[in-house]
Parts: sequence; C-alpha cells; structure tokens
Amino acid sequence: MSSKRKTPERMCVACREMKDKRGLLRVVRSPEGVVAIDASGKAPGRGAYLCANEACLKRAQKAHNLEKALKTQIDETVFTALAEEIARREYSTVCTNAGGNDAG
Ligand SMILES: [Zn+2]
Repeated sequence: MSSKRKTPERMCVACREMKDKRGLLRVVRSPEGVVAIDASGKAPGRGAYLCANEACLKRAQKAHNLEKALKTQIDETVFTALAEEIARREYSTVCTNAGGNDAG
C-alpha cells in the first residue's frame, strides 16, 4: 500500500475537499495585507485555495470562507477577478481539443 502522491493536494475553502493543486485557485494575502489571486502559486503570504469553479466561488463569497481563511476583508474586485480567472480556465479547457483543425 505505498502510494506515491506526486501532485500536491490542497483543500478548497468552500467545499472542503482535497484537490489537485492545478484544479484550484490560490488566493494570497501578501505581507502588506493585499489580497490577490496568486497565479504562480508561489507568492509570499498567507494563502487559501478555492476550486476553479463558479459554484465554489459563490459559496465562498456567501459564507465568507476566504475572509475567514485569510483573516482579512476581501474586496469585491478579488471575487470579480476570481470569476474571470475561472471563466478563462473553463474556456481554455473547452478549447484544448479545438485548435488547429479547420477541416470539418
Ligand atoms: Zn471547492
């Protein structure tokens, strides 16, 4: 029963499920207290993870999961940016198989 887990898993603050880091968005509160999406996953500060889907974003917004996790107020612009990032990810996922073939 030796399971090698190479992909790090993190817990979503909204649904509390452990997920592959790549399926999550990291929100970070910088040492200066600025909250932003951490696209690199390496920004310094306190981080919280959220599934890259709208349901968890809305849930987190409603229940203030991110505020609790980061122990700070979170501006609405952060949620807007998260929604945009989620939309972008969904779009790129959809388009992965669509490129390069114009015969149809
Ligand atoms: Zn989630």
